[in-house]
Amino acid sequence: MWVKLWGSRGSHPRPLTTDEFRGRISSVLQRARPPDLESPESRERFMAELPAWLFRPLGGNTACIEVRLADGTALVFDAGSGIIELSNDLKRRTARTRRFHLFFTHFHYDHIQGLPFFAPAYDPRVRLEFYHPKEDLEDNVKQHMQPPYFPITMDQHMGSSMRFHRLKPQPLKLGSAEITWRKMQHPGDSFAYKITENGRSLVYATDCELSPQDFERGPENENFFADADILILDAQYTLNEAIEKHDWGHSSFSLGVDFALSWKIGMLYLFHHEPQYSDKQLYQNLTAARYYAETISNDTLEVHLAEEGTEFTL
Ligand SMILES: [Zn+2]
Ligand SMILES: [Zn+2]
Repeated sequence: MWVKLWGSRGSHPRPLTTDEFRGRISSVLQRARPPDLESPESRERFMAELPAWLFRPLGGNTACIEVRLADGTALVFDAGSGIIELSNDLKRRTARTRRFHLFFTHFHYDHIQGLPFFAPAYDPRVRLEFYHPKEDLEDNVKQHMQPPYFPITMDQHMGSSMRFHRLKPQPLKLGSAEITWRKMQHPGDSFAYKITENGRSLVYATDCELSPQDFERGPENENFFADADILILDAQYTLNEAIEKHDWGHSSFSLGVDFALSWKIGMLYLFHHEPQYSDKQLYQNLTAARYYAETISNDTLEVHLAEEGTEFTL
């Protein structure tokens, strides 16, 4: 399967501020020496050596992940503002997708606010299949888009055909993949998803406050988390902030590392970035997370920040 992250910020969209932008330019200018600017090659070399927080904005859009199965089947997890970038990108692609399978972790604003701007939803040739484990899926999707919150409604203006599926406890089969889900601790509940195809698995678990039950050995946890190839995990806070914000429904990057190591996950993507944190702070968190992972275990765990635009195949 092929995966692309279209939005990875938590809670609300987070544009780069003017001060941050000016600060980056100033830091780059301070680093540059005359030989760095001599030729196009030297400039490229100079830019390649800049620290990631100066050169690569993490992106400010909220949760949205695109997954393409081996046969091209299109899955979308969450419709935060990142789905608007996905929508724009679809217009640039030569192959048209006529059917999308949309899964929601839950319906907090940052996970649904982009749906009214998802262009395929207005196309009568398109079919949208919505999935969620709770029965109020259709109401929850439709109610967020109506006056006075939005000028038009889904029923009257979105021309695509839509179907709403309540997920059963049994795995859902789509193409050659299987999708399973698990309830996580979050105000009003959130649901993690596991996509398994050709023996490779991706777990998407956001908006979750990891608890001792998530570490417990037992068939439910083992089938869901153990040995997953890639885990995209809520790691909104530092450990200190997670302690201060106990019960807010999010996890720290250090607990995320503990969790990934305990389930022998291959690769961890820290996700749902705290919008108050600058990119620089988030890259510092990544350094701390990697250091922590190396210090506490001999197992290899690759840790990355979920950057907007990251894509990978597994
Ligand atoms: Zn969220
Ligand atoms: Zn939430």
